Amino acid sequence: MAQFQAVKGAKDIFPEEVVRWHYIEGVIRSVTSLYGFSEVRTPVFEYTELFQRGIGSSTDIVGKEMFTFLPDPNGRSITLRPEMTAGVMRAFLQKNPGAGVPVHKLYYIADLFRKERPQAGRQRQFTQFGAELLGVSSPAAVAEVISMMMQVFDTLGLHGLRLRVNSLGDHEDRMRYREQLRSYLEPYHDLLDEASRERFEKNPLRILDSKNPAVQEIVAGAPKLLDCITIEGRAEFDRVLGYLSDRGIAYEVDHLLVRGLDYYGHTAFEVVSAELGAQDAIGGGGRYDALSKELGSNSEIPAVGFAVGMERLIITMEKQGLFATLCPHGPQVFVVLQDASLEDEALRIADRLRRAGITTETDLAGRSMKAQMREANRLLAGFALFVGQDEVASGSYTLRNLRTSEQLSLSIDAIPGVLLESSKP
Ligand code: AMP
Repeated sequence: MAQFQAVKGAKDIFPEEVVRWHYIEGVIRSVTSLYGFSEVRTPVFEYTELFQRGIGSSTDIVGKEMFTFLPDPNGRSITLRPEMTAGVMRAFLQKNPGAGVPVHKLYYIADLFRKERPQAGRQRQFTQFGAELLGVSSPAAVAEVISMMMQVFDTLGLHGLRLRVNSLGDHEDRMRYREQLRSYLEPYHDLLDEASRERFEKNPLRILDSKNPAVQEIVAGAPKLLDCITIEGRAEFDRVLGYLSDRGIAYEVDHLLVRGLDYYGHTAFEVVSAELGAQDAIGGGGRYDALSKELGSNSEIPAVGFAVGMERLIITMEKQGLFATLCPHGPQVFVVLQDASLEDEALRIADRLRRAGITTETDLAGRSMKAQMREANRLLAGFALFVGQDEVASGSYTLRNLRTSEQLSLSIDAIPGVLLESSKP
């Protein structure tokens, strides 16, 4: 075993797998651009208070999952970002102080850090892609964000995903519901597990999404949050559902869906994959109009967004066989040299081909021609170009197609054109 291993809960990603990431990232970039979203990048760390205020101190993330440190003995506490929404809103408020905010459509693909117990689909460093629509959170805006997320899944070919939606109402609705839920759960208090009993005090709504079957049985009979929200809130939620039906997006209203972060209100949603086992959520989001004020803005900035876990997306795609057609790209050509005396000539040729825009490999290790050919095949090179004494003397080089074994004799000037032509789809 190597002396050093990656830190528990963090993973290395090698080129074979990076191909998959690039493919998914390409789909994300093209679908988000169809909806007019542009990429935002924010720092990997933020002041700890941002997350305490933004996500809420009673949440699991802030309570026990943050990687927090002091940059210097007298410095302000800093935390590696456990999610993106608070940081994006912070960046937005910093850049646009004051009111009069136009609509902003932002997306990201970003590394995040949470001190969770690592298991399949749960890491301590992981990646999310997500989007934040700032400045509007009307039912049409909520539906647009959900549509965009579902279009990414559709474009990737995913099937069997379930979209669960619920309305969390406004702050007063939730306060009313909290008390109803506490009264309902009171007689069962001793039957709740430890985590739920802790939540009973701090954040009873989170008991609804417990994974413990015994707790699930208890909450099955609980009053419904949706029955506690105002007529206006209910009408808005119905409009969101109407837009989704209109676009042919299947959904289930799930009364137990609450989401783990404090800043959500009104519509919340989650997408689950049957392929994922215990950690079945692939992504989720909702409206978070309250966040901007929580972070000190004078005016409320309506907002809606979502985040999808890239690793869980990849696990699901793998189980559904969606990477089967994704071939790794080899170099277009491998320059094979007859012997070491031709190294300078071979490097000049490789340089010329690369400048002409052709992906080119050559031998840097003084290997035999046979070993070079093995390497060309291992790398899945499209062609081999032979550089020998005769070729250099005559100016005519052999170019072999490694798929068909067809060979051509060509002058060095003609080679780039032939290679470029052959790589056209
Ligand atoms: P959340 O912000 O907690 O709702 O997470 C949104 C999505 O990010 C989840 O549905 C997962 O797909 C992914 N995710 C969250 N936490 C982790 C983690 N520790 N490891 C891998 N993926 C995660």
